[in-house]
Amino acid sequence: MTDCIFCQIASKKIPVPLVHEDDQVVAIKDKFPQAPVHLLILPKKHLVNLNELSEKELSLVSHILSIAQKLAKEFKIAESGYRTVFNTNQEGGQSVYHLHLHLLGGKQLGPSMVG
Ligand code: AMP
Ligand code: ZN
Repeated sequence: MTDCIFCQIASKKIPVPLVHEDDQVVAIKDKFPQAPVHLLILPKKHLVNLNELSEKELSLVSHILSIAQKLAKEFKIAESGYRTVFNTNQEGGQSVYHLHLHLLGGKQLGPSMVG
């Protein structure tokens, strides 16, 4: 998927500072942050969203969550609190069609899951 922005970031064709990298995923700061800490954790492999994951690929979600846990500690939002979100398709608010987990924190977020 050469025209996918997150593939280009994950493969370093577009140089963006990485806050984490391992053999499966990278994590970056969101370009348009919605909170003081707004990170995106994305697989190196192009996967569209949760709908597209096979049973086998679901283990990747567990890995992504473990990186979220680690980054929440590193960015010092683990104790105060944070939100983790996967958006899926149009009504889920997905705008980049390469699987990614949002990790948001550093301010009081609203109680609502929508809007
Ligand atoms: P979503 O709406 O869940 O698909 O989230 C996509 C996120 O990617 C949004 O929060 C955007 O601000 C963010 N984003 C889009 N382009 C870039 C980019 N080049 N670098 C970092 N974040 C980006
Ligand atoms: Zn991609």
